[in-house]
Amino acid sequence: MTFRSSRWLLAPVVAGVVAAAGLSLANPITDADAGAAKGKARNVIFINGDGMSAAQREAARLYLAGLDGQLTMDKLPYSGQLTTSPHDPKTPITDSAAAATAWATGEKTYNGAISVDVDGNPLPTLGAQAKAAGKSTGLVTTAQVTDASPAAFFANTADRGAQDEIARQYLDVTRPDVILGGGEDWWLPAGNGGAYPDKPAEDPSEASKGTKGDLIAKAKAKGYRYVSTAAQLQAAKGGKLLGLFGNEELFQQRAEGQGDVYAPPASLATMTEKALSTLSTNKKGFFLLVEEEGIDEFAHDNNGTRMLQALGELEKAVAVARNFAATHPDTLVVVTGDHECGGLTVEDTATSDESGDGISAEDGPFPIKGSSQTFNLDWTTSGHTGADVPVTAYGPLAEQFTGKHPNTHVHDVLSQILTR
Ligand SMILES: [Zn+2]
Repeated sequence: MTFRSSRWLLAPVVAGVVAAAGLSLANPITDADAGAAKGKARNVIFINGDGMSAAQREAARLYLAGLDGQLTMDKLPYSGQLTTSPHDPKTPITDSAAAATAWATGEKTYNGAISVDVDGNPLPTLGAQAKAAGKSTGLVTTAQVTDASPAAFFANTADRGAQDEIARQYLDVTRPDVILGGGEDWWLPAGNGGAYPDKPAEDPSEASKGTKGDLIAKAKAKGYRYVSTAAQLQAAKGGKLLGLFGNEELFQQRAEGQGDVYAPPASLATMTEKALSTLSTNKKGFFLLVEEEGIDEFAHDNNGTRMLQALGELEKAVAVARNFAATHPDTLVVVTGDHECGGLTVEDTATSDESGDGISAEDGPFPIKGSSQTFNLDWTTSGHTGADVPVTAYGPLAEQFTGKHPNTHVHDVLSQILTR
């Protein structure tokens, strides 16, 4: 703890020395923006491209912006790297739960842990601390709203699979003001199909399975407005908001051509816009977690086509956040990933595949925007890897993300805004 505290206190000093030496840590294209964004820190928009590391970002840049193009997420003026290893007796490679716990609590823990330490003891979370400091809080995701990444900011459980218990804690303990995403099945008991009926054709295994009663009814009783369609979401104004737009994830994660679908009823950008307009009425500020889950889950299936689609949706949500910050200079915007997924490399398409079949197969070719050239994606695993993740940031305290840090550094920076 002492080590981490002293490290982030030192960071601005180091940055100052480098600046005095005439070196620039910032992206030259957006230096002017960085200067304009020096407001008093009040709000945090933290954006997780689940499973997104450097190769995923580069594939998205080529596909969406072209050879000389730049993504909005890459234009954020300060950048660094985060290591992601957990404290897990079985593996040095993290899952989303341990990674998000590192962000939300500053503590390394085992895979599957939702903001509990290696012994299972609950840890203070930034979501709860921001609420205690008088801020509004929210989460927006294309996963279940109770999936590991959002859960670690707003719940404590020894097992990430206890998603009905996580939903219960949202209502009884941490009370995020905005909850938008999927996972309706965890809010309703078996037999109560809800707005997204059990056993849909696209995935007959999906069915309501909550063990904590009708949590949607409970949410309404606690003052949440409940919506389940894009039209209802658009019409919702003010107050606490619960939107569930699918049984589980807001997509079907499968290999290419095997029933893979990415078509959320409400897009990540739309949900992010609604969350920002709702949360930003609080004079004390807000914390918003935004997550695109499809990057990770389609990478697990080595499905480059859908992964690129999900990256495009993340990019649109980043643009929403960046535009908000342009007129709210008291807002820190951070974009990163929780870990790499797929062991992905970006390759040319001219050579034969040197790495094999199955999960080592090449995927593509994919077009490069504004060019006649193409690229291939080459996968080496259907799981996560230990590759560093890039982090980019804009706004107050953004400069603290320069350099290479453990992923707990996210907590150390965000807590400076969210716990006071
Ligand atoms: Zn994953």
